[in-house]
Amino acid sequence: MFDELKEECGVFAIYGSPDAAVNTALGLHALQHRGQEAAGIVTMSGSLFSAHFADGLVADNFTSQEIVKKLEGDIAIGHVRYSTAGKKSAHNHQPIYAELSCGFLALAHNGNLTNAMTLRNKLIKRGSIFQSTMDTEVIIHLIALSQKPTLNEKIIDAVSQIEGAFSLVIIHEGKIIALRDPNGVRPLVLGRLGDGAYVIASETCALDIIGAKFERDIEHGEMVVISEDGIKSLQPFSVAPSKFCIFEYVYFSRPDSLLEGKNVYEMRKNIGIELARELKLDADVIVPIPDSGVPAAIGYALESKIPFELGIIRNHYVGRTFIEPTDKIRHFGVKLKHNANLAVIKDKRVVLIDDSIVRGTTSKKIVQMIRDAGAKEVHLLIASPPTISPCFYGVDTPEKEDLIASKLSVEEIRKMIGADSLGYISIDGLYRAIIAGKRNNENPQYCDACFSDQYPIRLTDKEGGEVPLFDFMK
Ligand code: SF4
Repeated sequence: MFDELKEECGVFAIYGSPDAAVNTALGLHALQHRGQEAAGIVTMSGSLFSAHFADGLVADNFTSQEIVKKLEGDIAIGHVRYSTAGKKSAHNHQPIYAELSCGFLALAHNGNLTNAMTLRNKLIKRGSIFQSTMDTEVIIHLIALSQKPTLNEKIIDAVSQIEGAFSLVIIHEGKIIALRDPNGVRPLVLGRLGDGAYVIASETCALDIIGAKFERDIEHGEMVVISEDGIKSLQPFSVAPSKFCIFEYVYFSRPDSLLEGKNVYEMRKNIGIELARELKLDADVIVPIPDSGVPAAIGYALESKIPFELGIIRNHYVGRTFIEPTDKIRHFGVKLKHNANLAVIKDKRVVLIDDSIVRGTTSKKIVQMIRDAGAKEVHLLIASPPTISPCFYGVDTPEKEDLIASKLSVEEIRKMIGADSLGYISIDGLYRAIIAGKRNNENPQYCDACFSDQYPIRLTDKEGGEVPLFDFMK
């Protein structure tokens, strides 16, 4: 993946740890790949809440003694953010918090609501005052307005009105509440530390970093309440089929994480193996586009018996800000980040492997870079089907018209990027790799809308054309 799709967000929560703030900072650090724009931690000690928010990376902003000391208590929630809904702004930091009639509450969200604008406009009309442009704020308002008697019921009432993808962690009155949308689009796992502390995180890599043991996934539609009475699991929402995001396997999650109990690295290797079965090529060397193309390239090399080589070296010290601000600088982006390793490319028939093509502009530059390094042939294989539709469930994808595969055929894309051949794994191949089974075309086992255009959850705002009443962040 060439800096074209942005990740989403990551959430973390811990209950009953004397080092809640430090463990949360570490957990968020492990989830940094899910969002690098901003991070926030809210802790609770008795009835006292503390919070710290910062733009930028967790390691740069949450490691000082001063900050850790400020974040008192043995319960905490945290969030790393890439803005999928709402603009980049200090108002848009999470966890988002408010004083409600039932007490102080803070909430962190991974995902994207598909009816947030519709609800927001209704709430504004009835007098609610919004402080941010985040869809997440709608949830706080709905909880605040609920007439149900207990907080659990207020949350259930609020969540029953929202649509889309959401993995939530909430801190309130000495409790942690975690829940996953009825389709379970975004991941959320439960773990346990040796001292008994409960941990909830977007991915298992955030458990590993603090030595917590993975217990299980939070189920789709499940609400978990952790308090001094222990852990309670509720199933308050009507049963819906699981529609876990298949792109988490292809790209978003860290390869050392477990999704649905399966190791992401192994799944990516399986995708490479399937790709080799579907698309056989005569070539001298398999070269991954680092880093996300590496496991699929290993799988392809294993199956095809063609040698695997690191023919592109990535510079890990290029910050996002360096390559993002202007188109002019973006133009240098490929060279800043990747360089061809001449020794393994010159005079070779090279198969490049990447996880996806979004706009195609960077693929073109990489293909050219490999040709300039003296490759005899350059083939590009993609470890996912063509990305034809945008995501509305928490991944920041370009508009449909900017997705190259929504406009051009595979052959036209090949010509545009200048490769000798271009191939994508089929959607059935992707399913075989991940579940070792067939895709159910009537009711797919995963959300794969960006490849199939079959959106499993209603896109209420999009269909109803709802826009904010006041876009005050502009
Ligand atoms: S549309 Fe694509 S990225 Fe979005 S949830 Fe579905 S599979 Fe994942």
